[in-house]
Amino acid sequence: SMMHPLAQKDIQHIWHPFTQMEEWCKEEPVVITSGQGTMLRDQYGRSYLDANASIWTNLHGHRHPLLNQAIVRHLGKISHSSALGLANEPASLLAEALIRAANPSRLFGKRGASCANSKLKKVFYSDDGSTALETALKMAYEHARRSGVSGKPRFLSVKNGYHGDTVGAVSLGQVPLFHRAFGSLLFGTDKVMSPYCYRCPFNRARPERSEARFSRRCQWECVDGFEQKLEQACKRGRPHAGWVVEPVVQGVAGMVVQPQGWLQRVARLARQASIPLIADEVMTGFGRTGPLFASHGEGVQPDFLCVAKGMTGGYLPMAATLVTDTIYQSFLGSHSSGKTFYHGHSYTGNQLGASVSLASLKLLQQGESNWLRRKAITRNLSAGLQSLWAIPQVGDIRQAGTVVGVELVQNWQTRKPWDASLRIGARVCQAMAARGVLTRPIGDVIVLMPPYCATPDQIDTMITVLQQAIVEVMAR
Ligand code: PMP
Repeated sequence: SMMHPLAQKDIQHIWHPFTQMEEWCKEEPVVITSGQGTMLRDQYGRSYLDANASIWTNLHGHRHPLLNQAIVRHLGKISHSSALGLANEPASLLAEALIRAANPSRLFGKRGASCANSKLKKVFYSDDGSTALETALKMAYEHARRSGVSGKPRFLSVKNGYHGDTVGAVSLGQVPLFHRAFGSLLFGTDKVMSPYCYRCPFNRARPERSEARFSRRCQWECVDGFEQKLEQACKRGRPHAGWVVEPVVQGVAGMVVQPQGWLQRVARLARQASIPLIADEVMTGFGRTGPLFASHGEGVQPDFLCVAKGMTGGYLPMAATLVTDTIYQSFLGSHSSGKTFYHGHSYTGNQLGASVSLASLKLLQQGESNWLRRKAITRNLSAGLQSLWAIPQVGDIRQAGTVVGVELVQNWQTRKPWDASLRIGARVCQAMAARGVLTRPIGDVIVLMPPYCATPDQIDTMITVLQQAIVEVMAR
């Protein structure tokens, strides 16, 4: 075969995630051999822009000198030791830094929405987004039982929400495709509607191509539905053990950006009903939507803050679940009390991961990826994206900070989606790859999520290539 030997090895031996392997094996895969900043290079030396930050993980670019240095320095000491029965310096320093970052003073001042006992107090480490959510789920479940809330706690989650692929995380999620595949393996959760303004059943405004496309007559019907769900559960004598949400943007749902004020409203209702808030900031964490954590931009402090992906700057798999003292206290007692949290992984608190996470956090807080930089990226993206409205098949352009989703439809006036079998999103991304820009679609939503080191020129290229690719696919 004419395939590059590296591509052949892949096809011989690897089973890829979320991939129909019968199709995969028909074409030569792109093999990434190196990266630098926003660029990735393949087996033939072709270069690409990493327009989705390597599936939403990379923050400061590939091979960042300070991140490389953090790992190399620590390698001179050790790479890993167990967190079972042992402590280590980078894990402790990182926990301290995360706790500080996750309790911004403006949330706790005189006018802050939160009181001191809603501070996030402890860090539980795990390996990736799914395990960060799995941890929160088990903690919230035990907490609910121990505090007498319910003997068989139930959870509340948002339609089309996605929280990972382990069985608990899939159960928490509400993605019909994944639930269909694993139905009887999952536990049931209560569902509230997603604030998906573009397809809002209450939005009777005519489709328009401006900010006004969201109805000015919005009466927050989605928030009323949320309140009703909470009330129903209370009436049944079974208040929820927690409600889980992706704050500000629902990623896998198609970069569904919540209208400003939604999170604050529903969080207030949940707080009144004493339902713990589990914030899944696996995608939105570490500045993706602007503030370091998206919840804080809405003035909301969750009871569980789950982070992963960008935590290490996109270098190593590592995650954390931050919890309040109230949750933590439920697990305290003597050895024989049975209150220990029976959960953990071999690589919990990994030393290299913690070292690089510390360096990454520094770049976000005081270095080149600070909020000014993120704001500049946000502006560059929103200015450039305006040109896409001219394409009739661009239905919606959603943006929250450095996160962008462009929803393609048959016709912007009818908002009619494409038949899934046409794989429009996938074909647009293929056409983009041929022009040197890599990203992945979610159905027919094209994602742009550049690393914070992306230059204005690189962002322009991403958008121009996206435009050319849509036009090319639509012409066929
Ligand atoms: N939560 C959210 C919001 C995510 O976007 C993802 C990953 N796309 C996950 C959880 C799962 O993370 P991981 O793939 O690292 O397990």
